[in-house]
Formats: sequence, C-alpha cells, structure tokens
Amino acid sequence: MPRLLAPERPAPLLQRRKDVAVTDGGLMIDLAPMKGIHVDPDRATIRAQSGVVWRELDRAGAVHGLATPGGVVSSTGIAGLTLGGGIGYLARGCGLSCDNVVGAEVVTADGRILTANDHANEDLFWALRGGGGNFGVVTALELNLHDIATIYGGPLFYEVEDAAAVMACYRELIQDAPEQLGAFFAWQIAPPLPFIPEDRHGDLFCAMVVCWSGRVDEAEDAISPLREVAEVKAQHVGPMPYPALNSAFDGLVPRGLQHYWKADFMRELTDEAIQAHIEHGKKTPVVNSTMHLYSINGAPHRLGPEETAFAHRDATFAAVIAGMWPDPADNEANISWVRDYYAAIHPHSDLNGGYVNFMSGDDAGRAPENYGRNYERLRQVKTAYDPQNLFHLNQNIEPLA
Ligand SMILES: Cc1cc2nc3c(=O)[nH]c(=O)nc-3n(C[C@H](O)[C@H](O)[C@H](O)COP(=O)(O)OP(=O)(O)OC[C@H]3O[C@@H](n4cnc5c(N)ncnc54)[C@H](O)[C@@H]3O)c2cc1C
Repeated sequence: MPRLLAPERPAPLLQRRKDVAVTDGGLMIDLAPMKGIHVDPDRATIRAQSGVVWRELDRAGAVHGLATPGGVVSSTGIAGLTLGGGIGYLARGCGLSCDNVVGAEVVTADGRILTANDHANEDLFWALRGGGGNFGVVTALELNLHDIATIYGGPLFYEVEDAAAVMACYRELIQDAPEQLGAFFAWQIAPPLPFIPEDRHGDLFCAMVVCWSGRVDEAEDAISPLREVAEVKAQHVGPMPYPALNSAFDGLVPRGLQHYWKADFMRELTDEAIQAHIEHGKKTPVVNSTMHLYSINGAPHRLGPEETAFAHRDATFAAVIAGMWPDPADNEANISWVRDYYAAIHPHSDLNGGYVNFMSGDDAGRAPENYGRNYERLRQVKTAYDPQNLFHLNQNIEPLA
C-alpha cells in the first residue's frame, strides 16, 4: 500500500488536526470536500457525494419533506455508515441505510470508476450494501427518499432502578409495534440540558429514545407503554423535524474523543441478558459513553439474508457498547468497561456476529460470523475488485488466495 504519511513524520495538516482519526501506516483519502447533493423529488431519490455527512443529507431531503434512514447522530459520514449497513431511527419503517441504496459510484483498487446498481456491476452493488469499505472508494451514493418530514420523538429518562422494567417493556413493545416506531434503549449520564432537573445533572439514567414517523396524533398511543412502565424523570419528546431529532445527540459525541466499541446482534433479549446489562450499565463511566440497544425488526426483515451483504436479517436487536471518552490517559479504564460489559452480555446473544460499523479494530477477525453465509460470496467479490487487498485497514474481507 502506498504510504504518503510516514508514521514517524506526520504531515503538518494532520499534526494540526488532532480531532481526526487516522490509521497507522496507511493512506487516508479525505473525501470531506466532496459535498455535491442533488435531490430528485419526482423519483424520490437523492444523489450525494461521499463527503456529505448526515445532517447535510437530512437538510437537503427536508426541504422537500423527504428523508432517508441514517443513524442517530448526524455528524457521521453517509458513506461509511451506509456501506456497513446503517442502523437508525427510521430502520424499522424504511429499512437500513444500505437497503435504500439504488446506486453507487466506486473507484476501484486499479483506478477504474464504476457504476454499481441493479443493472451494472450487480455483484459489486450487492457487496456494497453491508460489506463496508472493502471494495473501493465510493465517491457517490444514490438513495431512496421517503415521505417523512415531521416526526414525534425524543428521549424519555428513567431512574436506573427502573431499567429492568424499561428494557422488558421495550422488548415486548417492539415485537409487533407499528413499523413507524423506531426506538432504542440507552444508558445516559445526564448532560446539563434544560429539560433535565438541574440537581440531576451528572446522574446516570436509563433512557428510551423514540421516533414515531407516522401521524403525529397517533404517536402518544404508540409509545404509551413506555410512559406507563415507570415514572419518567425527564423528557424531551414531541413533534419536530426529522433532522432535529437526528442531530439532537451530536453534542454528546464531539470530534476528538477516544473510541472503543463492541457489538452483537440478537433475536431475543433474555431476562439474563437484561441483568447483565444492568450490572455493567450502572458503571457507565462518562457522559459520552453508552450502550445502545437498537431494534431492527420490521422493514430490514423483509429482505432475505442473501439479498444484500448485510446478513443478519433475523436480528431483532443490535447492541453496541460504545466507549467514548476525552482523555487518552483514561484509555485503560474505559476499554476495560467496554470489554467487561461485552463479556457479560455476549453469552446471552443467540446470534453469532454483530454489526461491523459498531466494532473496533481488534474485532476485525469476526468478519466470517458478522457476514455468516454471505462471507464466501463477499470474498469472491473482493477477489474480483480488490484481489491484492488494497483496502484492508477495515473490518476486512480477505480475497481468496
Ligand atoms: C458518534 C458516532 C455515532 C454513530 N452512530 C451510528 C448509528 O446511529 N448507526 C450506525 O449504523 N452507525 C453509527 N455509527 C458507526 C458508523 O456507521 C461508522 O463509524 C461509519 O464508519 C461512519 O461513517 P463515516 O463515513 O463517517 O466513516 P469514516 O470514519 O470516514 O470511515 C470509516 C471507514 O469506513 C469506510 N469508508 C468510509 N467512507 C468510505 C467511502 N467513501 N468509500 C469506501 N469506504 C469508506 C472505510 O473503511 C473507512 O476507514 C456511529 C459512529 C460514531 C463515531
């Protein structure tokens, strides 16, 4: 692999940019200046270059009363998130981000510029929808848009003592909730926000974050079990433009944090798993760190496991223990929290594998289980488009020997 940046002599730009994550001994291609966006309201599609981040894409769609599923933070890039799958507020109703891709422009390892869609380079198109950054540099994506402008949502905060009841309620509710309901469970140390009583700032809570994308007057009915299960100690729930909810938590994850994440998929959330979550969630070390438990039943289940590279279409939940903290001096303690938490919940996961975008470098060896029966086909596509494994500093899919 060409090395523009010798680790012992970093380029001045990166010396200045302490807030950008770069890889050791590799070449980073910065697509940030590629900001082109074009909405086609008649076809309900959006074409965006890969330097676009979600808040920019959200805004472009919102001008037309349209949206496409992203994640739950709007500062992330559209490309990395979509290529790995894309789990967020709108997934239950509109599918994963990758399920909404109708085409991509890709620069391959040998420098060709290819179009991948249902009619061109179909194998590449299949692999890009879940296979991550393994197959080339994606320079533009075309995505489906949905009629979503105003949603009804936000966070509901509960005492930690109510976490078992809240998790169990979420488990039951989400099994057959209308697909317009997106929701995730979270641990959250209260930041100093006006909707949280001042004397509780800094306290740990558990939270349900909801996003109802159906009729606003039906929203409270849809979330009523979450209101009844325990006393809500603080909340910021109501109608708002979708981009407002998608960016509501950006302030919790500023640039420059240290990151160490682990992840699993599961069909069932058992009582034993809930107890393990509580034992370790109670130790959530800093305001930026959390465990999110997303639900991905609904629209993602309507595609077969082999229709795109994203294999775990049978998962109801995607858990991520997201360790994020400001000071590298605290690395050991925070990494230990993530590892201990994961070690406790993993035995209760009834599926092998997790979501590649929620994993750190030391889980790169999990690719075969993360992709399940799609892994061998992914290796074939990798061999066709990147036989030398130029793109390997990722959740790597190895080309065939
Ligand atoms: C604060 C935070 C919140 C998150 N929330 C969510 C969430 O709600 N839902 C969710 O699904 N994920 C979430 N993620 C995970 C996210 O999907 C991954 O971190 C993803 O890689 C981010 O995309 P990016 O374009 O910013 O990637 P970058 O950090 O720029 O790149 C990461 C890797 O992705 C690949 N990649 C990125 N762009 C391209 C491209 N154009 N072509 C080819 N490969 C590329 C490369 O392998 C690259 O090394 C979150 C991450 C963070 C840090």
